[in-house]
Amino acid sequence: MDLSRRDFIRISAGTGGAALGGLAGLGADLAPTLAAAAELRIKDAKTYPSICPYCSVGCATLVHTVGGKIANIEGDARSPHNEGTLCPKGAAIYQLHVNPNRPTKVLHRAPGAAQWEVWDLERAMARVAELVKKSRDETFIEQLESGARVNMTPAIFSLGGATLDNEWNHIQQKLMRGLGIVAIENQARI
Ligand code: SF4
Repeated sequence: MDLSRRDFIRISAGTGGAALGGLAGLGADLAPTLAAAAELRIKDAKTYPSICPYCSVGCATLVHTVGGKIANIEGDARSPHNEGTLCPKGAAIYQLHVNPNRPTKVLHRAPGAAQWEVWDLERAMARVAELVKKSRDETFIEQLESGARVNMTPAIFSLGGATLDNEWNHIQQKLMRGLGIVAIENQARI
């Protein structure tokens, strides 16, 4: 491969993907380099089959760990429905586990306040329970005018995400139904 001075400066100025893109644009075969990089990333890693938690498609993944820590997550080529691929959301699952930007504390913003306040978990859970009970007590309907017994509240709605697994949803259903909540939605793989 012949590099002109202009090409050399363009490639040198780029970093990471930009530099690789520049080399690829010049006709360099990057496949062996990329394969070696991928191999290094998961070298000596343990591999665990799993599934993407983000939606009900349930794409199969392979989770690679090194020293007990997740080093990489990618699509499992053995899966008949995703065949090793992941959508952009699924391709970012690694950041669901390893992400210093994720909030790790409960943040509460009081009505009308401009600032978030850090609450400890116990206080937040107690507040949620208090408001659920208050809403239920104020809106509970035992009987309709027709005389039909319904024992429900129309004031509370339960919305679950795809990351809730079967076991969680089982418990969630028991709790919600027990409270008389009938508006329940989730994206679970039940
Ligand atoms: S990779 Fe995308 S399509 Fe597949 S389960 Fe995850 S979110 Fe759904």
